[in-house]
Parts: sequence; structure tokens; C-alpha cells
Amino acid sequence: MLYGAIEAGGTKFVCAVLDEKANILEKTIIDTLNPDYTMGKTVEFFRNYDIVSLGIGTFGPVNIDPESPEYGTILNTPKLNWRNFNLIKYIKSDINVPIIIDTDVNAAALSEYKMGAGKGKKSVLYITIGTGVGAGFVSEGKTLKGLTHPEMGHILIRKMEGDDFEGVCPSHGNCFEGLVSGPAIEKRCGKKAQFLPENHEVWGYIADYIGQALMTYTLVLSPEIILIGGGVSQQEHIFPMIREAFKKHMNGYVQHRVLDGDLSQYIRYPENGQMAGLYGAYQLALQAHEDSNK
Ligand code: ADP
Ligand code: ZN
Repeated sequence: MLYGAIEAGGTKFVCAVLDEKANILEKTIIDTLNPDYTMGKTVEFFRNYDIVSLGIGTFGPVNIDPESPEYGTILNTPKLNWRNFNLIKYIKSDINVPIIIDTDVNAAALSEYKMGAGKGKKSVLYITIGTGVGAGFVSEGKTLKGLTHPEMGHILIRKMEGDDFEGVCPSHGNCFEGLVSGPAIEKRCGKKAQFLPENHEVWGYIADYIGQALMTYTLVLSPEIILIGGGVSQQEHIFPMIREAFKKHMNGYVQHRVLDGDLSQYIRYPENGQMAGLYGAYQLALQAHEDSNK
């Protein structure tokens, strides 16, 4: 049986066809330009395969409420030509298979839960630190949804003494994303994050703020494991700093043997690495197929 998976990102769409053992049989990458171009190419790709269902992990904000007539509609994104565009309706008018759509980070959390570092755990938090910052959460196999979907990248952070950086979030300035995203680091240092030395002072700020955010997520959601993906997380050297900052801010408040240790298994890089999003979309496709047989 063949399943379709789309990791719909702000810069590129990764589309793949996978079998029931999660082998990727075919994959293509399409630039995120206007919806007609990108979705046209996407549908063209999947038309060649007899997929039974499709999963989409997408950039947002997006309507992920299956009960809503607007299920699958991209909402107030800064990408103006994608606003009010409905991904599901576009695909279904051509390829009529069951489709589940969720946020990119919820999908990534689901892939780690099902087939990554969160296997065997009851809950997984997945956070991405890249062009934007966001987090997805899975509990008992279900991704977290609410009135809309969580926007965990935009929580408030207490700035460190001496830090006068104003942040880059267009809506909140120095919210979490505004302080630690790739573009925030670039603005602060005048250089892309990947070109900064490990001993640059910015990493101290970044690690502290990520530690603060993880504290809030732990207090609110109590995840069994936290995975940090996205471009900035490729800086391996910040993981020990993040764990240290997290410990310092938590100050022993939540008692659990996992939190008493060195945290190397609690806060870590995703097992599926850069594939977490695509595998997450695949998991959504499996779910869509299963639901259609109920
Ligand atoms: P996106 O969020 O657009 O899907 P990424 O997760 O790769 O893509 O995030 C891109 C951001 O991550 C850019 O701001 C870039 O400067 C930063 N980045 C990419 N690679 C690295 C790296 N190795 N170290 C630190 N920052 C990186
Ligand atoms: Zn913000």
C-alpha cells in the first residue's frame, strides 16, 4: 500500500510516497512560491502513484479542525498569496483520498512519538528553532489542538541582565521566537547563526532563553521527552548549555528522577533529525487511512 506525505514548509514543500514500512519510494522538493505553482507541482507528483491516503504537516497558522468547513485553510500568514488558500480542497479536487492535516511541529512530534526518540513514551514535545520557532505536542497518540492550534513559539521570556536586543517578532518584538530564531541571531550578530563561533556570547543568551521556554513547557504540559529540531539546533554545543539553563530556572521545583539526572535523555536532538516533519506527515497519512476503514 502506498501513502503520500507532504512537509509543507515556508521555503519548500517536501513530497514523498512511502510504503507501510516507512520506506521512501519517491521524493521531490518543490519551492514554496505561489499556491498555483507549488500545489500544481504537488498534485502532479502524487498523480503518478496509487496512494491510499495523504498526510500534510504544514506551516501556519492553519485551520486543523476536521469539523470545520475551513479545514486545511492557511490563515494569516505573512505569505500573502497563501492566505485563505485551502490545501485539502485543492488536492481533493484532483486526488480524492482521505487527508489529515496538522501543523508541521505537531507532525514532527508525532513522528518522534511513533518512530523516533519518543517511542514507548506517553507524551512528546517537539520544538523547532529555525526561521521561526514553534512547538508541537503529542499525548497518548493525539496531537494537541485547541481553539486553533498552540503557538508555543510566541511565549514571553524574561530577558537576561545586560541584554538590550529588541527582538524580531513583528507581533511581539522580544517574545521567544523574536529572541532565538535564526533571523533573530542574524540580526543580533550581523551574521547567520551557522557562521558564528561556538564561544560567541550570543549562545549564552540563546541557551538561557530556550531553557526558560522549556521550563514553561514542562510546567504546563509535563512532557516525557523534549526534542529540539530546526536549523539552529544543529549547534550541538548548545544542548548542554540549554540543559544547564533549564535546571537553573526550574530550581528543583518539579520532582522526578528524569529531571534529577543530567537531562541528556530528556532534552535532546530528534532521532528522525531533519526527517521528523516528513515522517510525521506519513504518520498522519497512516492515520487517515485507518480512520477511513472504521
Ligand atoms: P526553516 O525554519 O526555514 O524550515 P531551518 O530549520 O533550516 O529552516 O532554519 C533556518 C534558520 O536556521 C536560518 O536562520 C539559519 O541561519 C539557521 N541555521 C541553519 N543551519 C544552521 C546551523 N548549522 N547552525 C545554526 N543555525 C543554522
Ligand atoms: Zn511573537
